[in-house]
Amino acid sequence: MINPRLSFWEYDQYFKNIDVAIIGSGIVGLSTALHIKTQSPLLKVVIVERSFLPYGASTRNAGFACFGSVSELLDDMTNRKSDEVFALVQKRYKGLKLLRKTLGDKNIGYHELGGYELFTPDDNFLFQQCESAIENFNIEFKDITNVESTYTLTDEKISKFGFDGVSHLIWNKCEGQIDTGLMMESLLEKVRNLGVSIFNGIEIEKWEEAENSVMVHCNDGFYFEAKKIIFCNNGFAKTILPQLDVQAARAQVLITNEIANLPFEGCFHYDKGYYYFRNIGKRVLFGGGRNLNFAEEATTEFGLTELIQNRLEEILKNTILPNHKYEIEQRWSGIMGLGNSKSSIVKPLTKRTYCAVRMGGMGIAIGSLIGAEAAEMIIQEM
Ligand SMILES: Cc1cc2nc3c(=O)[nH]c(=O)nc-3n(C[C@H](O)[C@H](O)[C@H](O)COP(=O)(O)OP(=O)(O)OC[C@H]3O[C@@H](n4cnc5c(N)ncnc54)[C@H](O)[C@@H]3O)c2cc1C
Repeated sequence: MINPRLSFWEYDQYFKNIDVAIIGSGIVGLSTALHIKTQSPLLKVVIVERSFLPYGASTRNAGFACFGSVSELLDDMTNRKSDEVFALVQKRYKGLKLLRKTLGDKNIGYHELGGYELFTPDDNFLFQQCESAIENFNIEFKDITNVESTYTLTDEKISKFGFDGVSHLIWNKCEGQIDTGLMMESLLEKVRNLGVSIFNGIEIEKWEEAENSVMVHCNDGFYFEAKKIIFCNNGFAKTILPQLDVQAARAQVLITNEIANLPFEGCFHYDKGYYYFRNIGKRVLFGGGRNLNFAEEATTEFGLTELIQNRLEEILKNTILPNHKYEIEQRWSGIMGLGNSKSSIVKPLTKRTYCAVRMGGMGIAIGSLIGAEAAEMIIQEM
């Protein structure tokens, strides 16, 4: 059924004979499109995005190319088998390698500056647990990172970095950081060059599946048909796919102005991953604090709260930058998709509908791999 709002040309060029419509233009939607078109260039693939830019997490994150701090992985092991936790680490590491290979380090602004985990004297018990886990983690990680000692204790750097009230630092030499904006722009460009149309400002509300196609209905009465559709709408999945175990989780961040003589570079984790900061050039991006009010942050609404922003400012001033003058230049939030399990959901929903959602807090790491998996799943059934 041709949408009467379209001209002959519009229908013919953009909406006729769509093989796959991808919902969401975050890293997962774009990677899915990229891998479908690379393997099956003749398929007509479109991406439908509700906002003028991707509007979830992929353009709003911290840009850590990370795969798990020691305390976060130990925390994961309290309710999951260690094999499962290591398998997820491997997936994140492979995902990062794929992202770097697909786009190139220069085009994602990748710098392997390492990652650090901070411990304060109050965390002493946690630190002791982490310290005793390092040896075993390094053995397990040798096959993943190809490095003898992925994690090492590096307390001597605390004073050089100028932190206050930090008693221990664990260094992960395999972590890097990316320029999130550059990475997304490179991915968008690559996908467009493969002939994928991206339609911004169209929000999918419902769909009807028929024998040979799916009719997709959008926010203002617009509709179109596709042979297959895949939901890559992560934190927003539950609003249209209520059966999925995907919980929206807001994450708030702030960024400082440029700071003269900023004494550290790299990615930093604190409190089992609930807080994270990094340098962006001479600026510091700092985020986290969702654990201060889990219930309030379990939302698809973007926004900032005094509780979290004040706490971020306090830690920044007292612990991270006690000896520096700076201003907070910007603050923003993004929406993640979490669930009872830390693994993503990549599966068919019906004969013609699929999903690739629930990227958790490290979707930059796994996003490309999940896109490749989703593409494989769809192509097999074309
Ligand atoms: C503040 C913050 C910091 C983070 N830091 C890191 C980090 O340092 N490292 C890391 O690995 N991960 C990080 N993450 C997580 C990572 O950004 C996400 O896991 C990842 O970007 C998810 O990608 P996605 O494509 O699945 O989802 P998204 O990027 O959220 O994309 C989903 C898209 O779907 C669109 N959409 C939703 N509903 C509809 C609809 N009905 N119709 C049309 N379009 C729709 C949305 O507008 C959105 O653009 C962070 C996340 C946040 C919020």
